[in-house]
Amino acid sequence: MKALTFHEFGGPDKLRHEEVPDPKITPDQVLVRVKACALNHLDLFVREGIPALKTPLPFWTGCDIAGDVVEVGASAQGVKVGDRVAVNPNLTCGRCEFCAQGEDSLCVKYGILGEHTRGGLAELVPVRADNVLALPAHVSYTDAASFVLTNMTAWRMVVTQGRVGPGQDVLVIGVGGGVSSTAVQIAKLCGARVIATSSSDAKLERAKELGADVGINYTTHPDWAKLVFEATGKRGVDVVIENVGAATWKDSIRSLKGGGRLVTCGATSGPVGETLIPLVFWKQVHIIGSTMANRKEFSDVMRLFFAGRLKAIVDEVLPLKDGAAAQQRLAEGKQFGKIVLTP
Ligand SMILES: [Zn+2]
Repeated sequence: MKALTFHEFGGPDKLRHEEVPDPKITPDQVLVRVKACALNHLDLFVREGIPALKTPLPFWTGCDIAGDVVEVGASAQGVKVGDRVAVNPNLTCGRCEFCAQGEDSLCVKYGILGEHTRGGLAELVPVRADNVLALPAHVSYTDAASFVLTNMTAWRMVVTQGRVGPGQDVLVIGVGGGVSSTAVQIAKLCGARVIATSSSDAKLERAKELGADVGINYTTHPDWAKLVFEATGKRGVDVVIENVGAATWKDSIRSLKGGGRLVTCGATSGPVGETLIPLVFWKQVHIIGSTMANRKEFSDVMRLFFAGRLKAIVDEVLPLKDGAAAQQRLAEGKQFGKIVLTP
């Protein structure tokens, strides 16, 4: 099969569209012929090399996958050859205390398909049978691949960790990103008022089409936290949805109301942020981490997707062989929503 491999860590120039051996499945797995695989910042981090990860080379990433089941393992149940599926990229042990509680993304051996194992930027990918979900006929592969990872992540952030409800003010930082743009939709679905920030007026316009009520350009308004304060009647927001990290962290905390909740799932601008500790204890704010989603959250958000209550946000669809240019576009932050590759 063809895959978008890298043999050494580095920039997009390390990527090769080349022939590799077809993967083999274990009895509990199915083999999926990839029809669409969306890109995430994770693809870039793994390609650049994560020292703690010990990635085997050559490697290929890809964790947002939709395709057709072409082979079913001997003990795999509930799936048959020909099924159109989306893939839940959680890799779990199924045995630890967190797995027993259904908290997949807290599993002590937690991993992500395409990060800890070779992924979907290839023609074929082996997946555990209980990680595939049948796609209704009206849902396209492109939309499904675009939807999964960002929405399961944003759902856990907004609904479970952020406890966003009707009438609350939610601040979504850096709204061009995949998680952020879909967090706008989910927060609106929860009945919240959404304030979005971005470096680009065009992205703020797109965010408003998704339901954002207020847009703040943090390039033209470096004092954006003050504008958030004014937009909330000098109260601050109930919840901040963060994944930008170092560049926005300090002001994200400053934007919270007393007792507010900052939920973070990433740090694309850098991992070390400045925290004014008195702001944390004096305003009694909560700083809450979030990673991916558990199985129930995955099925909840997919159900709303299938019902048309949440939409996939697709920036561009490109052939797998153009993966290097696509990853460059993602690295430069030019996209709004997901960039999808098709083998
Ligand atoms: Zn576990």
